[in-house]
Amino acid sequence: MSVSGSQQSPAPSANVVSTEQTSCCVVGGGPAGAILSLLLARRGVPVALLEMHKDFDREFRGDTIHPSTLEILDQIGLAAPLLEMRHSKISGPTIEFADGPFQPFDLKRLKTRFPYILMIPQVQFLDFITREAARFPSFRLVTRANVRELVEENGVVRGVKYLGPDDAWHELRAPLTVAADGRFSRLRQLAGIEPVKTSPPMDVLWFRLPKLPEDLNVPSGFLGGIGRGRALIVLDRVDYWQSGVVFPKGHYQELHAQGIAAIRQTILDIEPRLARHVESLTDWQQLSLLSVESSLCPRWHKPGLLLVGDAAHVMSPVGGVGINYAVQDAVVAANVLTGPLKAGRVADSDLAEVQRQREWPVRVIQRLQTAMQNNLIRRALLLEGPPRLPWTVRALLRVPILRDLPAKLIAFGPRRVRLDDP
Ligand SMILES: Cc1cc2nc3c(=O)[nH]c(=O)nc-3n(C[C@H](O)[C@H](O)[C@H](O)COP(=O)(O)OP(=O)(O)OC[C@H]3O[C@@H](n4cnc5c(N)ncnc54)[C@H](O)[C@@H]3O)c2cc1C
Repeated sequence: MSVSGSQQSPAPSANVVSTEQTSCCVVGGGPAGAILSLLLARRGVPVALLEMHKDFDREFRGDTIHPSTLEILDQIGLAAPLLEMRHSKISGPTIEFADGPFQPFDLKRLKTRFPYILMIPQVQFLDFITREAARFPSFRLVTRANVRELVEENGVVRGVKYLGPDDAWHELRAPLTVAADGRFSRLRQLAGIEPVKTSPPMDVLWFRLPKLPEDLNVPSGFLGGIGRGRALIVLDRVDYWQSGVVFPKGHYQELHAQGIAAIRQTILDIEPRLARHVESLTDWQQLSLLSVESSLCPRWHKPGLLLVGDAAHVMSPVGGVGINYAVQDAVVAANVLTGPLKAGRVADSDLAEVQRQREWPVRVIQRLQTAMQNNLIRRALLLEGPPRLPWTVRALLRVPILRDLPAKLIAFGPRRVRLDDP
């Protein structure tokens, strides 16, 4: 048996205090790992979900639940209880251009029971999904389980070794290990799979603005605008406005040097109605930087190991589809792999089938995101004043058959993913 791992491991991995067996070892309790675990558990597949943190509370990671995810949850009776939780809804942004407002997509026109993006804090969503999974005896969640090593035999991944809450090494063996451990995936690195990266031309500073008694009336739940080399995004989050300033990559130090007052001014230049809201921004610590990246792994698997979600592909934030795509990977993985997992034999061809079904939708959306970034966002961020929208874009989106295409792609991707439950 060989074990691949870091030389900086805090304890010798040979001192394993427990060895356990399951059918599927899922590493990472983000949207991809949590949904996959739930789907497998409810089909009676023994599954262990290992999450390095003590809970699901994170810095802002995006709280969007798209129509596609809602339809999938509806298939297993979970959309209704989710909708009972405190939430807000977004149907489409209106962006101010020099030649007037523009709505790039409107989900309200889609033929679905859920014509909106549901906004629920990701921590509550993940708590909800793992609580549901815990109703099935075949599910086990281990928090504070920091996976450090792959267990490999003759080139086949047979499980993982992790440092548990007791600071001791544990081994979990399984015919299938799923790397759902996010954009900096350790398992991907241990498996020697290198993502191909593209560098979107922007970064984002995220922050909260307070809701005020005399607040803005924004029925679509989304405000946005562009001006002086910056773009502003404002999302309705029941108790506050989740806001972001988008700026050209490489300009962070310059922004930081200008200080928080310059950020307040940027917001006001684009959206003067936020004059009272921005008074709450007094300290740079209130801002968090999202370094925007986009990547795709040429191979999502090796024998015994499958990569899903951000571990396989990091999506640019254009359209906010990262969570949706992670969830869709999980659904396809459950569809394809339940049978082989129940039979106790997962062939590399089964894992290749998951990649085959998921890679092309990811490629399609990443190409569109790149086109948007290079043709609209990059140009807009280079201008001093608010940009004009190319007339071709307005004209194309007046054609009925094209009008709803962006909404469909954002809501479902190029192909609707469904659970293949009877
Ligand atoms: C600031 C920011 C804002 C975003 N906004 C949006 C948005 O509005 N809409 C949207 O759709 N997407 C958004 N995204 C992207 C979205 O968060 C990701 O696409 C999505 O979370 C990917 O899900 P995942 O399950 O693949 O990975 P993640 O959500 O990253 O989950 C990975 C999990 O693995 C755990 N983990 C990592 N390493 C280990 C280890 N060694 N052992 C055990 N556990 C481990 C982590 O703790 C984490 O819980 C945003 C991302 C960022 C950073």
